[in-house]
Amino acid sequence: DQLGDEQAGLITAHYGSKVEVESLLDGSRQRCHFRANLAQLVVGDRVLWQPAQSSGDGVVVATDERTSVLCRPDNYGKLKPVAANVDRMLIVFAPAPVPSSQLLDRYLVAAELSGITPVLVLNKADLIDDVLRPHFDELSAIYHDLGYPLLEASAADAHGLSALRDALVGHTCVFVGQSGVGKSSLVNVLLPDAELATNVLSDVSGLGQHTTTTARLFHLPDGGNLIDSPGIREFGLWHIDEDELLRGYRELAPLAGHCRFRNCSHLHEPGCALTGAVEAGDISAERLENYYRIRETLDETARQRYDRS
Ligand code: GDP
Ligand code: ZN
Repeated sequence: DQLGDEQAGLITAHYGSKVEVESLLDGSRQRCHFRANLAQLVVGDRVLWQPAQSSGDGVVVATDERTSVLCRPDNYGKLKPVAANVDRMLIVFAPAPVPSSQLLDRYLVAAELSGITPVLVLNKADLIDDVLRPHFDELSAIYHDLGYPLLEASAADAHGLSALRDALVGHTCVFVGQSGVGKSSLVNVLLPDAELATNVLSDVSGLGQHTTTTARLFHLPDGGNLIDSPGIREFGLWHIDEDELLRGYRELAPLAGHCRFRNCSHLHEPGCALTGAVEAGDISAERLENYYRIRETLDETARQRYDRS
């Protein structure tokens, strides 16, 4: 009775049992509750909703199918979706803290398995001097040769920002990477002040400062969105098994069927196509090493999840 007609909307924030919905008709935002059968709504979800006509909450009545979903474990170790319909993952690294190619691989695998296009961003380019340059060129070459886009940028001196903006435009993006690589700094230079201010000011939740710790969708000035939260930045490989890990390595996956032994563990067997390709110089030894090391941690990750649940 107090609700308007059904219309299309976008979830821009999530607060416990309520969500903030943005109207795709006029851009206005309203706090909504949602029907019980839609328990898993997250930021980035496209929905059908009915706005409240006067005071009170609107209501979300249906949700569109997702093109992708990012998950992370809750306090009980149970995987929960945190963002939907993300199609670009900006994987940020920098000269400091010292980058780990294993961590970069973890993010790349996560992106590959989620169907999200990864873009590597080497931030703090202003810190790369003649001594560091060869090292970073070598690291970049590994990923460039695999077809992963890689940009150099500096949030400090604004170097490379227009190429970064071009990589984001029209997409729904997340920034991931180690603490201290400059994700906040990049987000701060990419988003207009007014957009950043919505994080605390348009507090339709009525929950005050709470809002800053949950995921939120921001609009990019040239079109497209950025979904950000502390949890999303730590996004990792929570839920995968060995087969999936291999599928996330785009140059290793096609080789796996070509080992001499059908049940090859890709470690010491003769005729292994993976180790053979490294010996032949066709693929990077560092990538295969990282694959081994990540594989060793998978059991442990699963066990930790089990212990906590
Ligand atoms: P986050 O933890 O990934 O969000 O990283 P922050 O954005 O908090 O940045 C960590 C530190 O790196 C801060 O002291 C920033 O001022 C600094 N920083 C960020 N971007 C750059 C950059 O492009 N160049 C330099 N030299 N420092 C940067
Ligand atoms: Zn093998």
